[in-house]
Amino acid sequence: MEKMVIISAPWVVPVAVPVIRDGSIVVTGGRILDIGRRDDIIGKYPQSSEIKYPCVLMPGLVNAHMHLELTHLAGGFCSLPAQKFTEWIDALIARRAQNKESRDEIVAAFTTALKEQYNSGVALIGDIGNEQYDELDGVAGGLQPKIVRMLEFIGPNKKGCQAAMTNLLHLDENTAATGHAPYSTAPDLLKEIKKRCRRLQHIFSIHACECADEREFLQTGTGCFRDFLEKKSSWDGIFPFSETGFSGTIQYFAHLGLLDDTTLLVHCVHVSAKELLVIKDSGAKICLCPGSNGFLANGHAPVELMVDLGLLPALGSDSAASNQSLDIWREMQILAVNHTRIAPADILAMATMGGAQALLHETEYGSLAVGRSAKFIHVSSPDLRICNDSAHLMDILVANGKPAEIEWVSSVYD
Ligand SMILES: [Zn+2]
Repeated sequence: MEKMVIISAPWVVPVAVPVIRDGSIVVTGGRILDIGRRDDIIGKYPQSSEIKYPCVLMPGLVNAHMHLELTHLAGGFCSLPAQKFTEWIDALIARRAQNKESRDEIVAAFTTALKEQYNSGVALIGDIGNEQYDELDGVAGGLQPKIVRMLEFIGPNKKGCQAAMTNLLHLDENTAATGHAPYSTAPDLLKEIKKRCRRLQHIFSIHACECADEREFLQTGTGCFRDFLEKKSSWDGIFPFSETGFSGTIQYFAHLGLLDDTTLLVHCVHVSAKELLVIKDSGAKICLCPGSNGFLANGHAPVELMVDLGLLPALGSDSAASNQSLDIWREMQILAVNHTRIAPADILAMATMGGAQALLHETEYGSLAVGRSAKFIHVSSPDLRICNDSAHLMDILVANGKPAEIEWVSSVYD
């Protein structure tokens, strides 16, 4: 029989249910067998050994939207905020085309980032890339977050779309494919990618409603995205918006049949209450990236509306090319500052359970519950150690940034 260990602490934050004062978690075979008040657990499992931690036990965090392959671009490559969102995209494309860094340097940059994510308590990452990097699996000797990797397809004109369709057809079925955005991935290509995701039960993640100009492009086929595509000689009629306008990205995606409970809409800054209802009815998930939205001056997502509707968004840092930090604790802090009406417990749920649901891993990660992975964290700080109230505890966890001490509990009994 597998060895059973009781792990106890003054605070246990399961996320899906209220905080437990003086709680214990029973672990066996890498799974959570039981969780509850310490007094009850000790009575139920009298033969088991116990490990006591001094502060807070909680699930590992989830960074649901990253572009690890862009980590080497940290530090900026154009003056910000750009006048137009497309100016930033243009600068990013130009910077990547320069090929200043070798593959080894790119790998070294994301390897460091991955280790930092792990050391800051991140259990699960949603990562989008344009290139295959087998190095993402196991670069940190196993001590790294689980990565849900998605290969992003772009096809903003007929030629690019055709090439992407061919690549998609020959893509290894273990590799998940995804689209970039409504202005950069042609409609037929988006439909084909979604069809493949459904067949292979992969998550379909896409940037949506990130900047105000996106809506103008979808409504009338005009604005900075049209100008951008014309400048790149990519305006060849593959997007229908000049003839058939849509009220916005969500109506367009619904029209293409892209919205269901395995679709992840990243950003959702410029989204209306009506559009949020469509998202809710479809079961599609949202990933907020408040740090990136601030960095690029794209505005604040209507998080209050989302929470009022009963939606639980995920949180993501986005890339080092569009954010000054990849720290998911900082993303919680930014949300707390920008949305004072949102309860800290809801923000913590976004950075854990919301992310796990969005990446289709909620049976493993995102909460401390029976059957979940026993890979969870202990966090501590001077403020947390003197805290005597569960509401205040949540406030500290969300508003104070990364705790002074973070450790993976599983290492104790592995
Ligand atoms: Zn992104």
